Amino acid sequence: MGDNCIFCKIVRGEIPCRKVHEDDELLAFHDINPVAPVHFMLVTKQHLVSLAEADDSHAALLGRMLVLAPRLAKQQGLHNGFRTVINTGKGGGQEVFHLHVHIIGGGLIPPMVRRD
Ligand code: 5GP
Ligand code: ZN
Repeated sequence: MGDNCIFCKIVRGEIPCRKVHEDDELLAFHDINPVAPVHFMLVTKQHLVSLAEADDSHAALLGRMLVLAPRLAKQQGLHNGFRTVINTGKGGGQEVFHLHVHIIGGGLIPPMVRRD
């Protein structure tokens, strides 16, 4: 699983990244094409396609990701807050099919949904 997956290659060190955090289950690295002054991704080391493929066995891992996100955001200087985004499936705009949480901030972050 994950032989041709870009994020698995980054996890294995076959593609370089600007690392933010690493532990036995999770890796965080800066996005190659940032949408804000700070934009990094938190990925599972295990190849999991998307949130749609997650089940109860992934609950602790997903919980760890969400608990780690604010800690890493602060370390990256995001003391005022940040946006987390998880794109799921083609319909959710996902482009890399290896579960990841975007952590974005440091600039003007507009409301995500415009209602006017
Ligand atoms: P998605 O649209 O799947 O939620 O987000 C995929 C993200 O991965 C995009 O923001 C894109 O810029 C980023 N990305 C794609 N390839 C690479 C890469 O090789 N290295 C890094 N650091 N980011 C990547
Ligand atoms: Zn993968």
